[in-house]
Amino acid sequence: MNHSGVSEKDNSPRGQQKNLAWRGSLRGKISGAYVAVAVAMLLASLFFVGELRTLEARVELGQRVTELFDTVLEIRRYERNYFLHRQPADQAENAQQIARARDLLTTHRTDFLAVAPAARLDALRDRLDDYAGQMAAYAATPARQATLEPQVRALGKTVVGLAEDMARVERSQIRATLASFRNLLFGVIVCMALLIVLIGRALSQRVAKPLKALEASAAAIGANRRETLAAPSRDREIVSIIEAFNHMLKELDLRRKSLMRSERLASLGTMLSGVAHELNNPLSNISSSCQILIEEADGAQPATLRKYLSNIDQQTERARAIVRSLFDFSRDRAFSRETVRLKPLVEQTVGFVRGEIAAKSLVRLAIADELVVLADPPRLQQVLVNLIRNAMESLGPDGRIDIAAEYVTAGAPLPGTALGPGCGMDDDMVEIRVEDNGPGIPPDILPRVFDPFFTTKDVGHGMGLGLFVVYEIIDEHGGCIAVDSAPGAGARFRIRLPRSMRETQKREAA
Ligand code: ADP
Repeated sequence: MNHSGVSEKDNSPRGQQKNLAWRGSLRGKISGAYVAVAVAMLLASLFFVGELRTLEARVELGQRVTELFDTVLEIRRYERNYFLHRQPADQAENAQQIARARDLLTTHRTDFLAVAPAARLDALRDRLDDYAGQMAAYAATPARQATLEPQVRALGKTVVGLAEDMARVERSQIRATLASFRNLLFGVIVCMALLIVLIGRALSQRVAKPLKALEASAAAIGANRRETLAAPSRDREIVSIIEAFNHMLKELDLRRKSLMRSERLASLGTMLSGVAHELNNPLSNISSSCQILIEEADGAQPATLRKYLSNIDQQTERARAIVRSLFDFSRDRAFSRETVRLKPLVEQTVGFVRGEIAAKSLVRLAIADELVVLADPPRLQQVLVNLIRNAMESLGPDGRIDIAAEYVTAGAPLPGTALGPGCGMDDDMVEIRVEDNGPGIPPDILPRVFDPFFTTKDVGHGMGLGLFVVYEIIDEHGGCIAVDSAPGAGARFRIRLPRSMRETQKREAA
């Protein structure tokens, strides 16, 4: 419990998740954009409500000015009627309209100040008063009517002129207000459109960009250029997709490794009798040397003793090398390439699988002594075991397996179905061919032989992983594998591997 009353940062996994949720999410960004647009629209609407109220006030003022002007025109109409017909009713109406005009001027003085200065309003009021006085004098003294009439008319004209000026100013002000309102409306529409475009761009930057980066990262995994997805953003949804995807990749990798391991164990089974046979030779050599030494120990020359002891030493070393390579073959080790002399490696591998080779079958090697290849030796041995085993299993009594290797120049054509990053490479490489004179691979299954779990063998004789593992290893080496076969004419597997580190570095730099 937090006794101090100060809020503490929640560091529990749930709390961290909650913190992450606040830090960023695609949903948050999209909602943020919606809120920004909604707020902008609300502000624009409130602004226009305010502007409309100003316009309304203008129109109301306009009505009052028009009312004043109409009243002044009415005053003059009754004046004219009175002068023409001398009807007291017209005079009374005239006086009433004068009073109304005065009343309007007093009641709405503050409003009228917007269209005329105070002095002008005062002048209008004074002229109205003068006019009212003259009209009263006109009605009261018929004898002076002839002299008073032009004065009344002149005053009436002045009053109309003043009211007309106010109406004109008001009209032009309404026009100006409408024009500024139109410009404002246009400006706000342009600003809103710009805002929507900007928010759209920002949204696409923040939402589409990480998704595109995710796509590129997934493509890189597909092309074996990287092993895990990198997080292109800290958005919650993307982080959880990446976590789930990387977890899946890890699981897949574990399963792939376990498949490789079971395939290796199956190969070990194949190699067991060959290994025993291979070990038997040095052991029996050691044994014979020991027997000779026991028999001749007493009278032997030191040189003879040295000869047998050194023979024992050599044979022990040979046996140790066999055990070491078997040990390397069987354990899980990290991929590591070195420059390997190919011929001894192939010879040893053939020795290991010899036990499985039908007695009459022939294995012929055509590999130059000095030929080297850049490879992980136990993995290359696994490739050879799998290919030789497949060839052996397909052979009849007079079977023949040819294993040849040579350097090939850049761009040398590779016949058959080819797979792997090294296919079509412009580097000088080493080509290893494993060829048999068995029944070959039918064209309809040829494109599927590298698929995992594809087998045509009976249950218990094949898991369908041999060529899949071969492909995986070649792929790991950045090499290429191709197969071509005509029914009845045997199968031919060609492997191309980088010749040296220099070629590999050249390619990796490219
Ligand atoms: P498995 O040997 O367990 O069947 P592989 O992946 O090693 O699995 O081989 C897949 C299939 O390819 C084999 O079942 C076989 O039909 C075919 N195949 C491979 N190598 C040869 C070969 N040298 N001759 C004829 N068929 C072959």
